[in-house]
Amino acid sequence: MTTSAPPDVDLALVGGGGAASLVLAALDRHGVRDLRVAVVDPVHRRGQDRTWAFWDHPGNDLDPMLAASWQQVEVATPAGRRVLDLAPLRYAMLRSGPVYDRAAEAERRLDIRRIVAPVDTLHDDGGHVTVHVGGGRPALRASWVLDSRPRPPRRPGRTNWLQHFRGWWLESEAPVFDPTRAVLMDFRTPQPARGVSFGYVLPVSDRYALVEYTEFSPDLLSDAGYDAALAGYRDLLGLDPARLRVREVENGVIPMTDGPFDARPSPRVVRLGTAGGATRPSTGFTFSAMRRQAEQVAAALAAGRPPVPGPAYPRRHRWMDSVALRALDAGGVGGPEFFARLFDRNPAGRVLRFLDGATTPAEELAVMSSTRLLPMVAAAAGDVGARLRDRLGPARRSATWTVPPPVLGGRTDVDG
Ligand SMILES: Cc1cc2nc3c(=O)[nH]c(=O)nc-3n(C[C@H](O)[C@H](O)[C@H](O)COP(=O)(O)OP(=O)(O)OC[C@H]3O[C@@H](n4cnc5c(N)ncnc54)[C@H](O)[C@@H]3O)c2cc1C
Repeated sequence: MTTSAPPDVDLALVGGGGAASLVLAALDRHGVRDLRVAVVDPVHRRGQDRTWAFWDHPGNDLDPMLAASWQQVEVATPAGRRVLDLAPLRYAMLRSGPVYDRAAEAERRLDIRRIVAPVDTLHDDGGHVTVHVGGGRPALRASWVLDSRPRPPRRPGRTNWLQHFRGWWLESEAPVFDPTRAVLMDFRTPQPARGVSFGYVLPVSDRYALVEYTEFSPDLLSDAGYDAALAGYRDLLGLDPARLRVREVENGVIPMTDGPFDARPSPRVVRLGTAGGATRPSTGFTFSAMRRQAEQVAAALAAGRPPVPGPAYPRRHRWMDSVALRALDAGGVGGPEFFARLFDRNPAGRVLRFLDGATTPAEELAVMSSTRLLPMVAAAAGDVGARLRDRLGPARRSATWTVPPPVLGGRTDVDG
């Protein structure tokens, strides 16, 4: 019996989530019409499975898709609240539904092939990549693969934390939210023994908002633990549970690790999204880097070049993130104090550009010197020591660390 050769494509997107959806929209926007493109994912993503918050300059292709955006945000600590004016930037909220719809529209317009199956392996011979789906069947032969399947870092980081959260989409009978302002980080929540916690509020109107409880820490909470923490934050905001309804619950876990994510595992495979290192280790923010890389991929293809984006973040930012994570983990700097000082001692725009990896070295020096120096110097020295130990011993190279799935559930009554 002979098996027929798998179809040839120019580009295969393996994984069709956030990163791939942004690439599809960017290909359409750049008018990349003459490429044979396929998407392979066991799930065809549609509707609401996550909410992205990020900052950018207003006036771009995302504008019609945004659920809300704010010129002002608040950062709160037990010591007080600061209102930050972000102009000329904005903080924006984008629900996944419109992003997946936009990707589906691009798929239709660009005549993209969709294969609904899990990819097992990619075999890259340097000239082409054969994409094998469930059971090892070769499904495609691609000139290039953009792979965004979730995966752990190649080896554990020196610090391996998680950003984990639960959010309630709250509908109120009475106007209780200020739709002109988002709460970016509210550190008045009880702080965990190891890690940082904060709440935030993203209002869509005066009666409807996403209210979340987030932790940066090594371990997840229980289902009841998230509900209790979120109820505690709701009470802290002075919201009356009797006059609220939970419309949706959002759960998530994002890696915060300085473990390496290989962006280019083989000559014709490029990793994107969280799997490609787009998640900023010190904050979990991912969206802006995914978007930047999607734009670079589409621009390269439109110009007839290979779809290889620049690194998600400059190397020196990854180093600063290692040091910041280590300092937070050692408890030498309190999380609320660390973030509060950043926003107190720098213009908001500089901090946001820093978090995006878009600052100059001089600006980075200003940002770093606004943190408490001693614990940061201790963490930087500790990082150097840990790197040396890595070179000398193979222990961490052979270990593994994976991101656990989110704790699902979540009550939809908000009493108690
Ligand atoms: C609930 C939630 C909220 C978030 N909010 C923010 C935010 O506000 N701001 C921010 O910057 N970042 C946020 N993030 C982080 C990040 O932006 C998202 O996780 C984003 O979706 C990452 O995109 P991705 O393409 O890397 O992964 P995903 O969007 O998870 O896509 C991965 C895709 O791979 C597919 N897949 C899995 N296995 C296979 C296989 N074997 N073969 C083929 N395909 C496979 C999956 O079905 C999925 O569609 C959030 C994450 C979560 C989970």
